[in-house]
Amino acid sequence: MSPIAQHLQLLQQKIARCAEDAGRPADAVRLLAVSKTFGADAVLEAVQAGQRAFGENYLQEALDKMDALHALAPEVQLEWHFIGPIQSNKTRPIAERFDWVHSVDREKIARRLSEQRPAGLPALNICLQVNISGEASKSGLTPDELPAVVARVAQLPGLRLRGLMAIPEVTSDIAQQRAAFARLRKLAQALAAGLACDTLSMGMSGDMEAAIAEGATIVRIGSAIFGARYYA
Ligand SMILES: *Cc1c(COP(=O)(O)O)cnc(C)c1O
Repeated sequence: MSPIAQHLQLLQQKIARCAEDAGRPADAVRLLAVSKTFGADAVLEAVQAGQRAFGENYLQEALDKMDALHALAPEVQLEWHFIGPIQSNKTRPIAERFDWVHSVDREKIARRLSEQRPAGLPALNICLQVNISGEASKSGLTPDELPAVVARVAQLPGLRLRGLMAIPEVTSDIAQQRAAFARLRKLAQALAAGLACDTLSMGMSGDMEAAIAEGATIVRIGSAIFGARYYA
């Protein structure tokens, strides 16, 4: 078994165990494999191990990888999730090529994605990103801004608002990790009345357990699958 296949298998077991420990069904949490900075060969290894959903942060890198994977494994239908910062002049290829966008942090971006989603495709699944730790350096809506934006974004015909996403402040303190994830869960619960939201996108390699304990439905995992990232 390749290292990537091994990591995926161990992670799936750990995710199921964390969910059960939290009194949730073993299959309540989906694993999104974050493949940014890793090549198509690494993604192909994960695909061969059964992984289908991949997260990418950088648009051009993602588009090149999608094309490469299509050439390498044309028979496999992959699900691509955009999870990085979005410039408003780059929304069209995101609307055209991705299945999910987790990092919608302004209404303007949501409107453009909705308008640019091709008519022949199902509505684009999106999460609104929340700056849950109030960090100046992080993007995301503030909890105060959220209700009004949710109400308007939920009406956009090209989108399907699935829930919320956050990247909390990094800490190794489990109680602090859980507190941030619990805030996101409560925000989602407060908004969910009347909306068909089913997604909490939270948890990365360093804080996955806390996120699952607090209700994550998608964990976004990169380095625990593919190894450490090196930026050129
Ligand atoms: C890179 C990234 C991840 C994965 O991070 P790891 O620590 O490698 O698991 C998850 N979410 C977002 C938004 C990212 O940019």
